[in-house]
Amino acid sequence: MADLHQGLVVAHLGKGIAVEVSDNAGAAAEQLVLCQTLRKLDTVVVGDRVMLSMSSPEQGRIEQILPRRSVLQRPSRGNDTRPVAANLDTIFVVFAAEPECDFLLLDQYLAICENCNIDAALVLNKVDLPLSAIVEEGLAYYQSLGYSLHRVSAKHALGISGLQQVLAQQTSMFAGQSGVGKSSLTNALLPDRNLRTNTVSEITRHGRHTTTAATLYHLPGGGDLIDSPGVAIFGLAGLSEGQLAWGYREFQPHIGKCRFNDCRHVNDKDCAVRLAVDAGQIAEERYQRFLKLREKMPPGNRN
Ligand code: GDP
Ligand code: ZN
Repeated sequence: MADLHQGLVVAHLGKGIAVEVSDNAGAAAEQLVLCQTLRKLDTVVVGDRVMLSMSSPEQGRIEQILPRRSVLQRPSRGNDTRPVAANLDTIFVVFAAEPECDFLLLDQYLAICENCNIDAALVLNKVDLPLSAIVEEGLAYYQSLGYSLHRVSAKHALGISGLQQVLAQQTSMFAGQSGVGKSSLTNALLPDRNLRTNTVSEITRHGRHTTTAATLYHLPGGGDLIDSPGVAIFGLAGLSEGQLAWGYREFQPHIGKCRFNDCRHVNDKDCAVRLAVDAGQIAEERYQRFLKLREKMPPGNRN
């Protein structure tokens, strides 16, 4: 078999996969190779570290996916069962004074991260706008749970260098409602984003199509950012009911203390989670949102 090279998947465009070869001696840095994949490997996604064989300096084939440290699943949608991204370290959930902060969506992202071995952090964008006391209170609660909060303004370039330092040395993704400023933030952090987009279009000959594909960028200040415009909201990503409860990290110390092993933490007798809510150890609002998300689950995911 031909020599195998190690590479990083930076974009997946259906038929073609753009891979950055990391050990291609002599090749220019960030040279991209257009790869095909074997059928059994068609779960390869952006962020994957792979072994590939090269038939020419521009073309190759993915032979193996290296072990992943995390996988972000997408909600099952028809035949598309490929995950969103692999090897993410942190998802930064972005929100702002406008559009109105959606804590239910925030909880959903946090629950997914808690179950996928991905860290979560909060980014409050548009700090130039006034924030309601209710949202400030909500934020303080998330911070008390150990989530870090970064206050920035993409438009006014406030807090960006601090965020840059946090993003260095890891692979991250922004998530959040439309309109909170994810693209503005990405542009502020990545002045030459178009460079990568153009290279990917060139090698895959997909034209502007690439703007909707998940793409991995190297940040100038260090670290990688996966931009996934098509998946602003990834639902509950197939979480089970038990995983949803686990996704509320302040429930975790109580879950093992419920009277029944299969406690649903709803109206169950001697539920330690409910007792903790009644005792004020768990915020009533968070618990109510847990019940709401639970209601939204497809019946098949319930216990
Ligand atoms: P996305 O849908 O999350 O990608 O959001 P966009 O980046 O498209 O931004 C949505 C709107 O918010 C645009 O009109 C931006 O100009 C605006 N915006 C972005 N950052 C800021 C900010 O720091 N302050 C204010 N006031 N507006 C911002
Ligand atoms: Zn319980």
